[in-house]
Amino acid sequence: MFQKILIANRGEIALRVLRAAKELGIRTVVVHSTADADAMHVRLADESVCIGPPPSRDSYLNIHQIVAACEITGADAVHPGYGFLSENAKFADILAAHKITFIGPSGDHIRIMGDKIEAKRTAKRLGIPVVPGSDGAVSDDREAFRIASEIGFPVIIKASAGGGGRGMKVARSAEDLPVALATARSEAGAAFGDDAVYIEKYLEKPRHIEVQIVGDGAGKAIHLGERDCSLQRRHQKVWEEANSPALNAEERSRIGDICSKAIADLGYSGAGTIEFLYENGEFYFIEMNTRLQVEHPVTEAITGIDLVHEQIRVASGGGLSTRQEDIKFAGHAIECRINAEDARTFTPSPGTITHFHTPGGLGIRVDSGAYSGYRIPPYYDSLIGKLIVHGRNRVECMMRLRRALDEFVVDGVKTTLPLFRDLVGNIDIANGDYDIHWLEKHLAETAAAA
Ligand code: ADP
Repeated sequence: MFQKILIANRGEIALRVLRAAKELGIRTVVVHSTADADAMHVRLADESVCIGPPPSRDSYLNIHQIVAACEITGADAVHPGYGFLSENAKFADILAAHKITFIGPSGDHIRIMGDKIEAKRTAKRLGIPVVPGSDGAVSDDREAFRIASEIGFPVIIKASAGGGGRGMKVARSAEDLPVALATARSEAGAAFGDDAVYIEKYLEKPRHIEVQIVGDGAGKAIHLGERDCSLQRRHQKVWEEANSPALNAEERSRIGDICSKAIADLGYSGAGTIEFLYENGEFYFIEMNTRLQVEHPVTEAITGIDLVHEQIRVASGGGLSTRQEDIKFAGHAIECRINAEDARTFTPSPGTITHFHTPGGLGIRVDSGAYSGYRIPPYYDSLIGKLIVHGRNRVECMMRLRRALDEFVVDGVKTTLPLFRDLVGNIDIANGDYDIHWLEKHLAETAAAA
């Protein structure tokens, strides 16, 4: 087991990782920018190292400073959290060269999954169902026409180097195709410095369903069921559930087994998430995230398995703590991402939290680094905390969530709490009847009615 883990992140996830390390009796080092000197994870860590000024590129993305902090403090492993350097293959390689363990997969596995075309090819080879489309980048318009007429319109053009929902264009008919291709190419070139695009069938009303997996790097892997993250705004997840209201136990174990077998065959090490669009009973792979996800706590709530413990165990060579047949899915969990943003316009609202009171009681978990008097810096994302609620079934979970939202107080800045108070009372949400476009439509309707 590791002696000392350096946490290369900030906010709620730095605290989350710190808690797991402490429980395993491992000492912790955190790195932070000058803007985060007062952060909760800095106060709670055994050691902290200031690595630079507020902009991420000078601090949380500064590989040299982070490696230097490892050397100075004698950390033998690094947990990257999510975002920042968590899916940076070069970072994983550099740590390996310094004999420091990266708590995550190999640089090569990060590289494969970071390239969307390569990821899709690999998924297909491993038996994971993918969206019908081109086999690799499309070189010219003629090839694009041929593929689009084979799979049928509408189609979506996507950037090979894509991310964050950028560089994607939908073509509803053959007439739309040349413009969609040209815009997708130029957006991809501008955003990622690579104008390679590929084409796939556009699904009209899918749900976003993702499968949590953990591999031991030596040919064994488990799945921990799925999460439904269909409630999104601008491709950003807002509300996540486990299990998905749309799947039954048989579908769950079918897709879960496909994913864990694929991951085992790949020899993958660590936690990861295989993301699908799900429509008419079919799963279509879209991408794999080779890190811990923001929404991982809903999986922890229904399985009782601490995913960060699992990541640390696997990275240290200790193997998986459990076998697939021992994993049970108990009850239902929902996570709400509480952002310091206006709940209607979604403009960020940095500033000082004058009063912070979190809900409690059975089945409630709040992951947050915020406290009364905490100043939210304007330099980073606006997530101030996650409310995770667990119940024996979805109805109990929703009732408990409504009560927890009533108790939650954040004064001094605007937050997205009012949005969740609205959603928890909505009939479609109560019925679990929503797809990836539902939230955008709902927000447009609410804005029009106001
Ligand atoms: P990124 O890495 O840029 O986030 P993804 O491939 O994960 O791109 O897709 C982001 C989102 O775009 C999906 O969650 C979904 O909302 C939409 N999307 C992607 N591919 C398709 C498709 N084939 N049909 C319909 N919507 C899609």
